[in-house]
Amino acid sequence: MADLTANNIKLEQCRICGSKDLTNYLDLGSLPLANGFVKSPSEEEPRFPLEVLYCGNCGLSQLGLVVDPKILFSYYPYRSSISRTFQNHCSEMAEVAKQYFPNPKDTLVVDIASNDGCLLNEFKKKGFKVLGVDPAKNIAKIANERGIETLCEFWGPETAGKITKRGKAKIITATNVFAHVHDVNGFVANAKKALAEDGMLIFEFHYAGDLIGKTEFDTIYHEHLSYFLLRPLTFLFGKHGMRIFDARIFPVHGGALRIYAVNKGNPLEDKDSVKELLEFEKNNGLDRIETYYRFRENVEKIKRDFSRLMRKFRKEGKLVAGFGAAAKGNTLLNYCGINRDFIKFIVDETPEKQGLLYAGTKIPVKGFEAIREMKPDYIIIFPWNFSKEIISKVGQVKEFREKNGKYVIPIPEVRIVSGVEEL
Ligand SMILES: [Zn+2]
Repeated sequence: MADLTANNIKLEQCRICGSKDLTNYLDLGSLPLANGFVKSPSEEEPRFPLEVLYCGNCGLSQLGLVVDPKILFSYYPYRSSISRTFQNHCSEMAEVAKQYFPNPKDTLVVDIASNDGCLLNEFKKKGFKVLGVDPAKNIAKIANERGIETLCEFWGPETAGKITKRGKAKIITATNVFAHVHDVNGFVANAKKALAEDGMLIFEFHYAGDLIGKTEFDTIYHEHLSYFLLRPLTFLFGKHGMRIFDARIFPVHGGALRIYAVNKGNPLEDKDSVKELLEFEKNNGLDRIETYYRFRENVEKIKRDFSRLMRKFRKEGKLVAGFGAAAKGNTLLNYCGINRDFIKFIVDETPEKQGLLYAGTKIPVKGFEAIREMKPDYIIIFPWNFSKEIISKVGQVKEFREKNGKYVIPIPEVRIVSGVEEL
C-alpha cells in the first residue's frame, strides 16, 4: 500500500485563501475509496482518513487529506448518470447559455471532465461547437465514438494552451468536477486563460449549504475535496479578476450550486441571486464554526439510528438490500460499520459494477432482477436524491409489492416509507 500513499497531501492551509486557521469539525474515520470495488471478500483495499476542516477566514469546508488524484480518477468503471432528471438538467443549462450567446454555431463550449459527453450533447443539439476534456481513457473513447470530440487529459495549462490555439472558448463548463480539484486556483487560472474576454464560466457542484443544513454527510468522500458555499467562491474568483454574476440552486444531486462567472470588466450586471444567497448563508450561520459542530451532532444521530435499525432487521431475520452502489452508500455504510452481515446485496443498474463487491463492506452488487428473485423486505435507497424515480421503478416489481416490501431513506433522517406518496 505504501506506493499508493506516496503522493497524498495532508492539507496545512486553505486551498482557496491560504489561511492556516483550519478547524477539524467532522471525522468519519478511515474509509476505503468510495468508487472502489473488489472482486473477492478477502481482497484488501486501501483506506484513508476522512476528515473535514473549516477555514475560519473564507469559510471553505475541505478534506484534511488529498489522496493522489492518479489513484482516484484514472479509471471509472462506469458511465456518468444516465438518468432523465440529469439529462433535463443539462438541457436546461444549454438553453440558458443560448440566451447569453445567441449565435451557437460561432460559440465554442468546452466542458471540463466531460465524461461520456452527456452535457455537451445537449449543447450540440442546440447548435453549439463543443469540445470535451476528460482524463479517463475508457470514458473519453465512448464520448468520441458518439461524436463528441474529447481530449483525453487532465485539465491543466497544456490543455488550456491547446484550446487557445484553436480559438478561445466562449463558454467553459465544469459540472461535478470542481469539488474534486485540489489546486482550485490553478484550475480557475487555466480556465480564464482558455476563455475569450467576453466568455463565461459555468461551474456546478454540490452545495455545502444543503450538506450542512440537511445533514447530507454521505456526500463526503475522498474524491470530494471541497464543500463549496458561495462566499469562499466569490473570494476565489475575485482573486483571478473574475466576478460571479449569477448563482442558482438546483435540487439535482441533492442540492447543486451553479455559478456563472465573467471577467470583472464584463457589462453583465450582478443578479439579485448572488446577494440573496450570500445573505442566506450568513443568516443560517454558515460563517460560524458552531453551526458545523451542530451538523456533527446530527451526523452522529443518523449513525445511531441507522445502525440500530439495521441491527433490529437482522434480529428479526429480515432480508435487507440496498439500491445504488455509488459513493453515497459507501460513506454511509462504512462510517456506520454496516456490512454484508446486515445487507445481502446492492442493486445497481450499471453492468460494469454487477458481480463486484462494494468497497469495505464487501456487499455483492447485483442487477435489477435480483429484487424479483430475492424478494427483499427492505431496500435502502442510497441515492436519496433519486428516491422518487427509484421507488416508482421498484414499485412495479410484482414480487416486491406482494411481499409488502418497504424502503429505507437514510438522509436527512432515517425513515421507512412504503411508496412515493410518503416522500
Ligand atoms: Zn480559506
